[in-house]
Parts: sequence; structure tokens; C-alpha cells
Amino acid sequence: MLTLENLKTFCAAHDIPAFRAKQIMQAVFQEGAESFSDISTLSAPLKKLLEEKAGAGAPELQISTVKPTAQEVSSDNSTVKILFELPDGATIEGVLMRFNDGRRTVCISSEVGCPLKCKFCASGTLRFKRSLTWEEMADQVMYFSRYLKRQKEELNHVVYMGIGEPFRNYTNLMKSLQTIMDPQYIGLGARKITVSTAGIADKIKQFADEPFQVNLALSLHAPTQELREKIMPIALRFKLPELMEAVDYYIKTTKRRISFEYVMLKGVNDSAECAHQLAKLIKGMLCHVNLIPYNATDIEEMKGSEKQTIREFQDILNEAGIPATTRVSLGQDIAAACGQLANKAQKPVTSAIPSYKNAPLLKKKLLKK
Ligand code: SF4
Repeated sequence: MLTLENLKTFCAAHDIPAFRAKQIMQAVFQEGAESFSDISTLSAPLKKLLEEKAGAGAPELQISTVKPTAQEVSSDNSTVKILFELPDGATIEGVLMRFNDGRRTVCISSEVGCPLKCKFCASGTLRFKRSLTWEEMADQVMYFSRYLKRQKEELNHVVYMGIGEPFRNYTNLMKSLQTIMDPQYIGLGARKITVSTAGIADKIKQFADEPFQVNLALSLHAPTQELREKIMPIALRFKLPELMEAVDYYIKTTKRRISFEYVMLKGVNDSAECAHQLAKLIKGMLCHVNLIPYNATDIEEMKGSEKQTIREFQDILNEAGIPATTRVSLGQDIAAACGQLANKAQKPVTSAIPSYKNAPLLKKKLLKK
């Protein structure tokens, strides 16, 4: 990965003025340059030298560890899903969502496949291969940041809610968070970042003790141990009382609100009784409930709740004094919404991402240079 220190060392070793190191960092991470050749302030011989050394594999000159190989754009242009190839050939997906209120949110993956196998989640059907490195997580964010910068837009939120369970990969998760918060890269504020867990109770406590203000979301999805076990196998390992005790610790330690994610599954967890049970479970907690309309996947036995059912569920929570809202779901038509990421809808290509100037928001096309 590029760092100022590495670039300074490179410059010194090749008799290049030190100020070039800063110039390169600025161009790549603040202005959106995709390659050294894109940096107009560098001389042609210097661009050539940097490209040659990077092409020969110099680790300190690699702009990214994730290579975009295909993209799809939703019909309303709000959502861009990218299939990334990793250095070992494995693939993951990341999604950029543009909301009308100005939010530019990126959802990134933390693992290749997910071993937790939640019953409603398309990502859980992917074979688990490995956890991502911290560079692979941070580079997804950097990629989208550059993508937006080329369109004169700024990335302002990051959620770790793509493929995988981030808390299974805790050390790399922490390093990726530190990287995207580092001003030499994106300098994103901690409060603009949310890490989502399916319920690894001991890591929730560890996360509470971290010295930063990154938000936490817990994918609860069921109000009882019995139902949770049915749809989330991780519930067998971390039972509801232990989980809620960890949540309590998190809230008391950080004094921050936790978000409970609750996907609305028709006839599974969307009854009025479930709503009352949920209200009872979390009553008095500093929290917010995000009701998530279920997005179509190939999982036959799971269907989304009706709109009216979601409204009634939300009303029960609100009447019990629980702040609850229903999530606006973007990117359903390109299988980029919650629970839909499955590395499926795209064909691998070898060409790189074009700049926005050349090819703004291609519609459901593979990328071409
Ligand atoms: S919901 Fe999250 S934890 Fe569960 S299978 Fe999908 S990606 Fe994994």
C-alpha cells in the first residue's frame, strides 16, 4: 500500500525530490488518480519509472490490492455494485449508494464468502474461503472514494455490512478502520463509520473498549433465542442473554447508541407478537431499530414482509417508546441491497475502471477502458 514514508524512501533511492512523495499521495487519495500515469503534475519519465516499478510488483508502489473487474449500476443510478478481484483471484463485492439527502455510503465486504450462513442471506450461500487483509478492506473504501472524487463527490459514510462477519477478522478490521480514518488517506470521521456484527458477543465488548467512536450495528433479526437459532446459526454459539449482556456493556462503556438491524421476513419474524417481544427485549436501551425490507434472493423459503406488516411492526415498537425506522433500500434491481451480495450477477472482465469523464455511470455494462 502507498504510504508517505514508503514514497519518500522510494524518492530518496531514485534521486527524486522528496516533495514528489506528497504530491503522489495527494493525487491518489485526495484527487482520485487511478494510476501514476493519471497524475498530471508528474513528469513523463517519473510516471514511467513509477509504473514500471509498480508493474514489477514493488509492494510500496501498489495503489490498490483490490482490482475492479465488473460493475453494475441500478436503474435509478443511485447504486453502483463492483466486483473486486483480490491478489489470489478470489472475488468479493462492494457497493456505493447515493441517497437523495447527500449521503454517499459505501458498503464493504470483510471476508471471501461467509461461514455464518444466516438462512436469509445470499452471501451466506457463498463458500467461505478466507478473511480479508486490512489492505483489502481499506482499499475497497479507497476505490469508491477515488470513484466519487472523479465525479466531484465525496464519500461520507462507510458501513462494514457486505459479505462476511467483520468481528471474525478483528485485528484486520481495526487496522482497516485506522487506515480509512487516517488523514493521509481519506480521513473519514469515526462517527461516519458503522461496523455490523451478526452477534459475536466477546468482540462487542472488545469493540466497546476501543478508543474511537465508530458506530456499532447488531444484526438481531429475532426477538427470542428460539427464533434466532432458526435463522442465524451463530445464535447457537452466542446465546441471546450473553449477547444482550454484551450490548449492555457496549452502551454503558461508550455511552453511544447501538443500532439493531431487523430484516423483515414474511411469516418468520414479522408478527405482532415478535414486535412486542422485541420491544420488551430492548426496552430502556440506548438504541435504534432499523427495520430492513427483505430483498429478493434465490433463497426459496424466504420472502419479504408486506409493506403494511412492516408499518404495523414499526408502530408497535414506536408505541412502546422504541425508536424504529424502516430502511430505504437501494440497489435491489442489481442485487446490491442488504443480504443480496453473492458475487453472482457479474461476469469477470480484465479491463480497468474508466474515469468518470470518459464513461459516467454505465448502465448494467461491464467496464471497458
Ligand atoms: S447476514 Fe452477514 S453474517 Fe449472516 S451470512 Fe450474511 S454476510 Fe454472513
